[in-house]
Amino acid sequence: MAKFSINLKEGKINKETELIIGIDLGTTNSLVAYIKDGVPVTVKNEIQKSSLLPSIVHFGAAETILVGDAAKERIVTDPANTVYSVKRLMGKSFGDVADFKQYFGYQVIDEDTESLVKIRVKDRFYSPIELSAIILKELKKRIEANLNRTVNKAVITVPAYFNDVQRQATRDAGKLAGLDVLRIVNEPTAASLAYGITVDKSEGQTIAVYDLGGGTFDISILHIEDGIFEVLATNGDTFLGGDDLDRAIVELWMARNGLDAEALHQNKQLSQQLRLKAEEAKKALSQADKFEDTYEHLNLGLSKDEFETAIKPLIERTIKHCAAALKDAELDTNQIDHVIMVGGSTRTPLVKKLVADYFKTAVNDTLDPDEVVAMGAAIQADILAGNQRELLLLDVTPLSLGIETVGGLMDVIIPRNSKVPSKAGRQYTTSVDGQKNLKVSVYQGERDLVEHNRKLGEFILKDIPPMPAGLPKIDIQFILDADGILKVKASELRSATEQSIAIKSPYSLSEEEMAKMLIDSIQHAEQDMKDRALLEARNEAQNILLSTEKFLKQHRNILNEKEIGRTTELATILKEAKSGTDKDAINKAIEELNEFTAPLAHRAMDHTIAEAMKGKKI
Ligand code: ADP
Ligand code: MG
Repeated sequence: MAKFSINLKEGKINKETELIIGIDLGTTNSLVAYIKDGVPVTVKNEIQKSSLLPSIVHFGAAETILVGDAAKERIVTDPANTVYSVKRLMGKSFGDVADFKQYFGYQVIDEDTESLVKIRVKDRFYSPIELSAIILKELKKRIEANLNRTVNKAVITVPAYFNDVQRQATRDAGKLAGLDVLRIVNEPTAASLAYGITVDKSEGQTIAVYDLGGGTFDISILHIEDGIFEVLATNGDTFLGGDDLDRAIVELWMARNGLDAEALHQNKQLSQQLRLKAEEAKKALSQADKFEDTYEHLNLGLSKDEFETAIKPLIERTIKHCAAALKDAELDTNQIDHVIMVGGSTRTPLVKKLVADYFKTAVNDTLDPDEVVAMGAAIQADILAGNQRELLLLDVTPLSLGIETVGGLMDVIIPRNSKVPSKAGRQYTTSVDGQKNLKVSVYQGERDLVEHNRKLGEFILKDIPPMPAGLPKIDIQFILDADGILKVKASELRSATEQSIAIKSPYSLSEEEMAKMLIDSIQHAEQDMKDRALLEARNEAQNILLSTEKFLKQHRNILNEKEIGRTTELATILKEAKSGTDKDAINKAIEELNEFTAPLAHRAMDHTIAEAMKGKKI
């Protein structure tokens, strides 16, 4: 509801402008920001004066819930009731996170590997959505207290690789927290938006956004021109971040102190304590050359050299993703004008160094890497509130989207790296006479055969009025909205029969799986092409056999025995070739049948026209 205030000095009535807040719902830390006098600012808490709210929830006795710094302290003292990194679980099944089970100090329910993960705390079960909602509520409370007004609209950021389920889960968390989520924005896009306001708008710039946070890594290649942001390509890893650097340190300490994985597994308290110490060491080494500490009898010293040797392979993995993103964008490193550093982990000097080395340029880190995403979210919110009309946002879809056509072929409707939102469609028809139902199966991936791609969902277009094969006009529309959620609509145009679904894929797809799908598509390109050629030949053979059969039935009267015999013979040869795997043999048989029947078809047509003309007066 709009609020009104009266300016007594000027005697004017001011309608309070709509406030939409920007939220960075991070794996490790979450922040809330808004636009104050045209500038994005993050909201700090009262006590610690920090804008970072650790994304941690603690469940105490008598229903007390702590969020943020207060909860962080409980990771060690009460690990079973302290939930952290819940973002890693958003929209995931237990099967997806089974390998990381030992990483959580709390109980992740593993009874049903197929369904979405639940977390057990005491005698209650929580979904990652509920837990995220607790964090969002805290941020809402923080900004409401700070501004002394209610807030109920927000923009929330997610990693670029979040799939539909994860994006929807984030939306649901917002709703549960009492926030109307107007837009889900990719974190790197938000970050670049924060930097974009400082970019000279008259000149086109190509920018790489390198975001290494606590739990995720994203690289985005963007082009900014005339105030328009376009994402050329994205890549990353949803399981690579500062936590992994911490883990590398813990492993180093374990090896040095003769501890094995089992010892840590048995002692949750020790495991969490080492985790916190490792983070402390890592942060210290962003400035100092040496870290020294002990815990009980354990030596927790660490030199910068040791640390850098341990984490180098992890950072090199991020560089590989950078190369993949550049390849997708068809760019060389020398075509990148700016490299933007985002996420707390980019404070590690080796990260900056290796990224700068790779891109052969000094990295851009003028804005606070912790705050930059929330600031961008606030700017996006401001755009939605109608205050910054000159800026537009475009994103891309990481994998191709399409449907299965006859013979199990993938027919791409929205190619990968297409702009989001986007809309595309194509017309299809039936392959059998009188076909009443048509199954529409939706896939994601780059391979020619759908069996190698990922099925997103399917539905049946029902009640198509009976018509000969090839006559119905079936229109399939793919609508990919600004949040990256896909709606598929099928309609038979002659009868206005219509059916649609919103795709909610049952499982998330990790960046690694996504990368594997891309690599597979390249490695199997030749075989895929052969498979496709064979399937296409078979499909064509099937169509010709059907029409030949129909032709023989309808025009028997104008054909002689020899012609019928030869046509049947050639059709049998084609049928045999079709059941084989030699596409050339199929195409040859098609050609021979066509060659023989073409003059017959002409004759039939002439005859039909002559019949039609009979008795007609001109
Ligand atoms: P997320 O986006 O995943 O919530 P953040 O961007 O808040 O993560 O980054 C959190 C990560 O940054 C943590 O792993 C934290 O240890 C790391 N980090 C914070 N400060 C520093 C520092 N000074 N040096 C190195 N790493 C840091
Ligand atoms: Mg982040």
